[in-house]
Amino acid sequence: MRFALGFRAKRSLGRPQTGPALHLSVTAVSVKKTLITGGSRSRGPLVAWPAVHFAVPFPDFCPYMSVGSFASGVDSKRQRALPVPRANAHMKTFTPDSSIASDVIPSANYGDRPRGRQVDMIVLHYTGMPDVESAVARLCSPGTDVSAHYIVLEDGRIVQCVPEAKRAWHAGVSFWAGEEDVNSCSIGVEIVNSGHDWGYPDFPLRQIAAVIALCRGIMLRLKIPSRRVLAHSDVAPSRKKDPGEKFPWHSLANSGVGHWVQPAPIMHGETLKLGTISGNVESFQQALARYGYGVPVSGRYDSATMEVVTAFQRHFRPARVDGIADQSTLATLHSLLASLPGDGKAAAG
Ligand SMILES: [Zn+2]
Repeated sequence: MRFALGFRAKRSLGRPQTGPALHLSVTAVSVKKTLITGGSRSRGPLVAWPAVHFAVPFPDFCPYMSVGSFASGVDSKRQRALPVPRANAHMKTFTPDSSIASDVIPSANYGDRPRGRQVDMIVLHYTGMPDVESAVARLCSPGTDVSAHYIVLEDGRIVQCVPEAKRAWHAGVSFWAGEEDVNSCSIGVEIVNSGHDWGYPDFPLRQIAAVIALCRGIMLRLKIPSRRVLAHSDVAPSRKKDPGEKFPWHSLANSGVGHWVQPAPIMHGETLKLGTISGNVESFQQALARYGYGVPVSGRYDSATMEVVTAFQRHFRPARVDGIADQSTLATLHSLLASLPGDGKAAAG
């Protein structure tokens, strides 16, 4: 706590626009927010906090922020203004649900959640667009029919676009553990990364730190279990690759976000692959389905099975993503199931 307060005081002193009176109020807000968010900031990797954020609006002191933004306390010379689409500039804003969301760009694209349907899943995506401007425009502009609750920028800033209580349109046709309407029960987090079609760069550390902090908060607030923090590719394996095999799920798991086990090493041995028909394929499909994947249990290793295996590997065994169920893939799936509460039986619940 002492470290956090000292850090904040130093950062606010460094802001050229702030006078003595503002110093006082910003520091007071910092103290309050640190107390509210509790000890999570002093734990492990979260010490590498991406930025200092305040969820309290200071419109007069924030010349670099766009309409609908909140003061972020971030050095304006190091960060670009957020690209707010023209059509969204005058949309009604809202108070962010996450205390570490520094900005709000309200999206036009969302609906109501079905009555009584609890949120119990987080779906992580990459934006898959060449730049952040086009990603924000696509997720927020009227008429695109897509959105997400949050966008996490490469510099670690977190923008909220849809209130958590509303149903964002991020997952599309999807399935997990018996649920066919993933949008209705999930929070969608878009991570800015140009994706496989545009060179697929590494995810910067500060962006991952921000994703971890954001997810931890959502999991705590909405009581979402770790095993239900998933990739878009997990819930839509025939259509989606995101956030992809470069996404560091192990780092998230080290901070209590997502279910993950050390993948079994790749070695020679018998494999199940496209075209195989056997009882072993059927058992393997049953195991995938028990974990939550939407896979036909037919005993035939068809293209749908191969797509699910590819998605599984992107998430849980990223060293080789080929859709072939080798010994390492089988062993990794079994240790995942074995490490679930209730020995895997809870997964489909
Ligand atoms: Zn996606």
